Amino acid sequence: MSLLKIENLNKFYGTFKALDNFELNVVENQVYGFIGRNGAGKTTTLNAVMQFIDFDSGTIYFDGKPLNKDDVSYKEFIAFVPDVPSFPSYLKGREVLALTADFIGIEASERNKRIKEVIERTDIKYPNKKVGQYSRGMRQRLAIASALLKKPKLLIMDEPTSALDPLGRKELLDLIRSLKSETTILYSTHILGDAQGVCDKIGLIENGRLVLEGDMDEILRSKVTNAYVVECERLDEVYKLLSQHAPFVDTIEKTQRGITFTLKENAKQRDIYRLFSTYDVHIDKLYKQSQSLEDVFVEVLNNENSV
Ligand code: ATP
Repeated sequence: MSLLKIENLNKFYGTFKALDNFELNVVENQVYGFIGRNGAGKTTTLNAVMQFIDFDSGTIYFDGKPLNKDDVSYKEFIAFVPDVPSFPSYLKGREVLALTADFIGIEASERNKRIKEVIERTDIKYPNKKVGQYSRGMRQRLAIASALLKKPKLLIMDEPTSALDPLGRKELLDLIRSLKSETTILYSTHILGDAQGVCDKIGLIENGRLVLEGDMDEILRSKVTNAYVVECERLDEVYKLLSQHAPFVDTIEKTQRGITFTLKENAKQRDIYRLFSTYDVHIDKLYKQSQSLEDVFVEVLNNENSV
């Protein structure tokens, strides 16, 4: 079931068209990766969804209903986590949550139970420490815990991992992945490795237009190349073998991972194994190369900008 759907959204800043018939479809209980380079229009889109800015034409549906300028009640079901959340440094984590609970109107009898739940859910280890002593990763967790207090249907995160170190990023990505059983996540990022690891679906925006949208698995699978990668210790020897004694090899290059090569038409994978066996060469791994999200991103944007 579609939770957030955007149709033909147009937004001008003066004469500059920031969103151009933009579309997007976020389905329930998925992590949707909203990706695009700087200036592509991600923040403008999120601001339009939150009605922080007006748009010129188009429709945004939340939970099946078109947004209406005079009715912001849908925001009760949406929580927003900014890239670098800030809290008063003199408050304890638990106090931040208590204030948020108060602000969103959680009944006093429910409050402590709910706060305890979100602290556990987001694994905040020191709820009684002052926020000023929190690491960036812990502040992100606190922001997510605050957002979860109201049990949102949609959790929007804007670049949540951009300010974190690799370990903090990994922990936060694990948390995001685990949250999709209880909410839907729209996650804006330009860190494609993170998106590839955590998102079920992606939408790629360029110049205010949606240029690619689909299930992550399908997109990556559809982009499997016809290239093979071989990993082994004796790279030079294998390179020589493939380039000089394998008439079925079309192109070949050394890469970071090993040797990448393509086959000529009608050549078979078994030709490769036969060659290694004939020359008694041991290889560690041989596999078909699939593209990373980054490869897809570059390819789509190159095509987009060459027309
Ligand atoms: P980033 O990742 O850098 O935040 P973004 O994808 O979020 O980029 P937006 O901030 O939505 O992109 O900006 C889209 C385009 O609209 C950019 O060219 C930007 O310069 C322009 N823009 C954004 N806000 C305004 C504004 N208030 N007035 C004029 N132009 C704007």
